[in-house]
Amino acid sequence: MHRFEPCLNFIAGEWREPSTGQYGQNVNPANGEVLGLWARSGPGDLDLAVRAAREAQASWRLVPAPERAKVLRRVADLLRDRKEELARTLTMEMGKVIAEARGEVQEAIDMAEYMAGEGRRLFGQTTPSELPDKFAMSVRAPVGVVGIITPWNFPIAIASWKSLPAIVAGNAVVWKPAEETPLLARAFAQIYQEAGLPPGVLNVVFGDGPVVGEAMLDHPGIDVISFTGSTETGRHIASRAGANLKRVSLEMGGKNAITVLADADLDLAVDAILWSAYGTSGQRCTAASRVIVERAAEAELLARLVPRVEALRVGDGLDPSIDVGPVIHEEALNKIDGYVRIGVDEGARLVTGGRRLTEGPLARGFYYAPTVFAGVQPDMRIAQEEIFGPVLSVIAVDSFEEAIQVNNGVRYGLSASVFTRDVNRVFRAMRDLDTGIVYVNAGTTGAEIHLPFGGTKATGNGHRDSGQAALDVFTEWKTVYVDYSGRLQRAQIDNN
Ligand code: NDP
Repeated sequence: MHRFEPCLNFIAGEWREPSTGQYGQNVNPANGEVLGLWARSGPGDLDLAVRAAREAQASWRLVPAPERAKVLRRVADLLRDRKEELARTLTMEMGKVIAEARGEVQEAIDMAEYMAGEGRRLFGQTTPSELPDKFAMSVRAPVGVVGIITPWNFPIAIASWKSLPAIVAGNAVVWKPAEETPLLARAFAQIYQEAGLPPGVLNVVFGDGPVVGEAMLDHPGIDVISFTGSTETGRHIASRAGANLKRVSLEMGGKNAITVLADADLDLAVDAILWSAYGTSGQRCTAASRVIVERAAEAELLARLVPRVEALRVGDGLDPSIDVGPVIHEEALNKIDGYVRIGVDEGARLVTGGRRLTEGPLARGFYYAPTVFAGVQPDMRIAQEEIFGPVLSVIAVDSFEEAIQVNNGVRYGLSASVFTRDVNRVFRAMRDLDTGIVYVNAGTTGAEIHLPFGGTKATGNGHRDSGQAALDVFTEWKTVYVDYSGRLQRAQIDNN
């Protein structure tokens, strides 16, 4: 007997078993408990969902946007009512500590409120026409059916960033959540249902990425793919969906750095490093996995940082005294440990951590000791590749200019942070850090939902989640000219 009922697909407002008859297991990474099952769907289930979405979108697009927004406002209320229950479930199936899980649910609440406001904005532009008795404007129109593919590390926040703007803009959604976090996906779909979203406007199809996700890329009934996850999967999605002329919005990996200059408030920098590097066990796309420190401050920074890392309490995130929860699964644990071995082989100095934790109850879960490497060179693999775990590389540099160069010398460009009291360097850093997000005197994490979220280079493909920018992914610009002169007027010709 499992703690939770199986997660079934949500198609056209109904909960349906997968046509395959197959199910996968949902495991609590803190203790190995099987929480329940999720539908391991096939392409046929996806096809049903896309058909339902297309049919629902035909009438949803005609509902006035302020009316659509009322559903989002109720979504916000229901999320708020269930915040604690959702947060506990999130911790159980994904592992992040309960305080962070509450923060993640809050992010979805904030997004629902913000996007509900969009129902009374969705601003277009009016501009004078070059011809007399003619009116010119551009309006946002829905794109159609949006395919959403999400990862497990922010199971409700990322889904909210994508589904809420898509829905308020008049699209219908088909969502394939990550297989590790089906409970949050089901709970979010239930909330949409209870909030009064018409059947078919949001559909959820559980399943494997290479089966259900892959079928989304080829399905002619899907117009947009919005994806968050690894760069490798994102690259594949871009090429496949691009060949089918779908719009593709990608948010992918990061190799984010905190730069600490010699004049920085070191205690503040240490607080930020702990939170950014070890929060969510380092499994955030904005996690700090590099610290770039001016050599003059290196010894002092390490002296203050390492005891704090060693004092972090690792365990089941449901216990409020725990700082760092488990990583998502055994495979992730092996990947992290593999990188630690690579770091040692490359000649980096393992200062603390560097091992799986198996003492007492930790043996049942997937725990890794918060790890610090010092003496890291910028071109080492541990300083270049996304590890996605609680592993930090400290790199010493000789100047501010070198720090910027090292920060930018990776293939990713999501988030960067700089600690200094020198206002001139702050502004140079804001200009020269080649990332989508820059923090000054704060860590690399902590995005707010009303600003654009995304990155440069291999982190993204030019689109942004969150904020007004998200609407550009989920709408088409429609330009409208109204000529009330009663005669043929020719732009570029009659007035020249
Ligand atoms: P993936 O990028 O593989 O998974 C993200 C989503 O894409 C999941 O829903 C997954 O399905 C789906 N997917 C997988 N393959 C395909 C495909 N061929 N077509 C369409 N969709 C697909 O990441 P993983 O979860 O496997 O994690 C691997 C690594 O990726 C991590 O170790 C980390 O480095 C990075 N990552 C980065 C994230 C970020 O926020 N930047 C988030 C998650 C991972 P399924 O349910 O089967 O997994």
